[in-house]
Amino acid sequence: MSETKALQEHEHRSDVVIVGGGAAGLSGALALGRSRRSVLVLDAGSPRNSPAGHVHNYLGREGTPPLELLEIGRGEIAQYGVQVTVARVETVRPWDRPGTGFVVTTDDGREVLARRLLVASGVTDVLPDVPGLADRWGRDVLHCPYCHGWEIRDRAIAVLATNKMAAHQAMLFRQLTDNFVVVLTEGTPRPTEEDLERLAVRGVRVVSDPPAGVLVENDTLRGLRLSSGEVLACDAIVVSPVFRARAEFLAPLGLEPKPFEMGGDVLGTLIPSEPTGATAVPGVWVAGNLSDAMAQVVSSAAVGLRVGAIINADLIEEETHLAVSTHRAELADLFEEPAWEDRYAARDAIWSGRVNPQLEAEAAGLEPGQALDVGSGEGADAIWLAERGWSVTGIDFSIVALERAASHAATAGVGERTEWRHVDVRTFDPGPEGLGERWDLVTSQFMHLPDGGMVDLTRRLAGAVSPGGTLLVVGHHPDDLVTGLRHGQQSSMFTPEDLVPALDPDAWEVEVVEVRPRTVAGHDGEPVPVGDSVLRARRRL
Ligand SMILES: Cc1cc2nc3c(=O)[nH]c(=O)nc-3n(C[C@H](O)[C@H](O)[C@H](O)COP(=O)(O)OP(=O)(O)OC[C@H]3O[C@@H](n4cnc5c(N)ncnc54)[C@H](O)[C@@H]3O)c2cc1C
Repeated sequence: MSETKALQEHEHRSDVVIVGGGAAGLSGALALGRSRRSVLVLDAGSPRNSPAGHVHNYLGREGTPPLELLEIGRGEIAQYGVQVTVARVETVRPWDRPGTGFVVTTDDGREVLARRLLVASGVTDVLPDVPGLADRWGRDVLHCPYCHGWEIRDRAIAVLATNKMAAHQAMLFRQLTDNFVVVLTEGTPRPTEEDLERLAVRGVRVVSDPPAGVLVENDTLRGLRLSSGEVLACDAIVVSPVFRARAEFLAPLGLEPKPFEMGGDVLGTLIPSEPTGATAVPGVWVAGNLSDAMAQVVSSAAVGLRVGAIINADLIEEETHLAVSTHRAELADLFEEPAWEDRYAARDAIWSGRVNPQLEAEAAGLEPGQALDVGSGEGADAIWLAERGWSVTGIDFSIVALERAASHAATAGVGERTEWRHVDVRTFDPGPEGLGERWDLVTSQFMHLPDGGMVDLTRRLAGAVSPGGTLLVVGHHPDDLVTGLRHGQQSSMFTPEDLVPALDPDAWEVEVVEVRPRTVAGHDGEPVPVGDSVLRARRRL
């Protein structure tokens, strides 16, 4: 299948693909499913403890058969929409698309896409090469005192020493029985004198005759046959298998299992990870035996939960980062001419056509003269002023809005007292004192510029007011943010006090610095109280 075709035809795209549906994987899936993540678990169906009859040391489910425990887990995660598919993952490669991601291929030819990977595929136990041993694995050939120790208490146990940890392992089982022997396998270094003394005082015999086979009668373990021919009668054989990370499929990502050493022996291989479960490959996490072969079922589940939560947080971080960048781009657009042209062109009218209430309140008592309406939009304020005898210049950077305003003014019969100019207020300059144009009223209603830009605009607008004239600047107060109606406008909103420093106190008498309460319609038409920042000042004569 070609790369493009494969990606087009993939069946699934998930926030998280979890490789391995054992305790760690399913527990991670539970945390992620409950966090409303889309999760696909791909599981080959052979948990490490499947040869054992029961799971012990799992509080609340003590003694449950391993596959039954996982079946319960599958049922639980299904409630949260997590899908489990029986399949073996064969390869994982980077998904070369915007954002981190992976293409996961399974043995049944599936290709699925994942934003994040939680790998919980566990380990394979490689047993000492003793004839008949592997057949009894998990039944009476055992490795862990916590998994099976109670079940073989007071029974005869033979420990096959395959590494330097054997004496330690023997001591743990000695806690459960005093009918005990340690058998040294071929090539295994003899325990230290100190270990031999410790074993001897606890009544543990050490035999140097290497094992040659397992003696079974009627499907019951009878003993260990030694190379000398002697049969060591026992009910259970304890071994220390070499554990191998089940992670070949990660090789295309450059993730290789690394040797795990303890007590001077290499006990197996693992995928190294941070305490968070993060691996060297961003976007790939591990949990359970794959990163900690000593982990029991309950602790694998605990780590799976923790790593699932960490992955969720990582996704939230990415999504928030993306939302912020998109939002910033949209905001940047908000103050650009093309965006406003589009906005006006999309609808016949975007404003109510009524005069803004603070202009009505503040200008009603002024003697009509020349007025400048900044950001005149569809012309409602300018027309209202013109109808009261003002000669009005409306400035805006949207041609569509200016044409619409001119048409409304003509309809209202004030076309001759209005003039419409294409001006970007960010570069508006009234010209030097004594030379440029001046107006008796300069009004800016709900013009907002980002990053505190309104202070600078107020300074420039002040320069356009005639001696004795009025400057009126009105905008949304930052407290309106709590209403949720002014989404993303924080940096452009202002208090009336913010604007006062723009006015030279020797040249200006500040008459109104107020927040005026008003009620507007919310998203669902409900009344929402807001506040308008109002600055009115008179230029001294
Ligand atoms: C014989 C034995 C008995 C045990 N008894 C106990 C006990 O009583 N109590 C206890 O707490 N612990 C016990 N353990 C330890 C227990 O098995 C582990 O703690 C536990 O299985 C770890 O869970 P996990 O999710 O990391 O891995 P696993 O349970 O091994 O699950 C890994 C899953 O990943 C799947 N998988 C692997 N490769 C792939 C792939 N390429 N694609 C898709 N899926 C894949 C496997 O099929 C498996 O279903 C026992 C271990 C053994 C060997």
